[in-house]
Amino acid sequence: MTLHLPVIDALPYNDHEIATLQAEIRALAAERNAVILAHNYQRAEVQDVAHFVGDSLGLSRKAAAATEDIIVFCGVHFMAETAKVLAPTKTVLLPDLEAGCSLADTITAEEVRGWRKQFPDYVAVGYVNTTAAVKAELDYCCTSGNVLEVIDAIPADKGILFLPDMFLGAHVRRMRPDRNVEVWMGECHVHAGIDIDTLQAARDANPGSEVLVHPECGCASRLLYRMADGDLPPEGIHIASTEGMINLTRELDADTFIVATETGIIHRMQQMAPEKRFVPADRAAECAYMKTITLVDVRDALRLNQFEIDVPTEVRERAKLAIDRMVALGA
Ligand code: SF4
Repeated sequence: MTLHLPVIDALPYNDHEIATLQAEIRALAAERNAVILAHNYQRAEVQDVAHFVGDSLGLSRKAAAATEDIIVFCGVHFMAETAKVLAPTKTVLLPDLEAGCSLADTITAEEVRGWRKQFPDYVAVGYVNTTAAVKAELDYCCTSGNVLEVIDAIPADKGILFLPDMFLGAHVRRMRPDRNVEVWMGECHVHAGIDIDTLQAARDANPGSEVLVHPECGCASRLLYRMADGDLPPEGIHIASTEGMINLTRELDADTFIVATETGIIHRMQQMAPEKRFVPADRAAECAYMKTITLVDVRDALRLNQFEIDVPTEVRERAKLAIDRMVALGA
């Protein structure tokens, strides 16, 4: 597959312009009765203007509970679709339609149907990084946090089709060797940025540091896979949610933490634990799709009601079944 990543714009504004745009956005949000949700991987100034910042499951829950008329979703397309599935009566706006996901793009609904035909008795499990049309073809949706619980909830005699993340699928195979699991060969382009050697170099440069791995997105699943393989000694490595990471920075004595996931999450961690030092495992681990949304895009989304994300009712209802099963099993 050829990737067409959006170009990450240099910041088109200075501090004063940022503050002015943020004030304008908050005023527009109040006027239009909108809530702004931002993913942890968004640009810092977009995170700062949001009403809530979190991972994709956390933001899905915020969307489902929203009382406002409009949800401005600063994340990628499949996440805005999930918000629409969970909050069908709300207007969901994605500020830039270029905010896609290379992992979600590796499989279409038609390909899932074809795969299921080849394995008619298997149960289809898909990572949350999939389009609503793909989710509508699944039995279960999962996150990297609850994937093993989902697998364990499926009767032991059933084969499993796992999609689209090959590293998370390989991790499942390794952790549940007695299960019959077919894996789709999809991957996220940010994988390339967080490799074991790069991570080890960051550790060597920061003696006494601890490593925090956030298994939110495809960018961390390769590390999970390599760790299970024994390539990376588990000492000093902690796999945690965003809130879990913050708790760890308080519980552990280290002053410096190497953060092995997309670099955008460091902004939030630094705000929540300002006395600690956070070093990206690899500065190149940036998701170009996440970073395509600017403050100007957020303002224009509210001004011009763009770009509205819709999911056809039939797809929405089927996708919701798979998502509800994921939420019921926790994350
Ligand atoms: S980091 Fe990878 S999996 Fe996550 S949104 Fe970006 S392209 Fe998709």
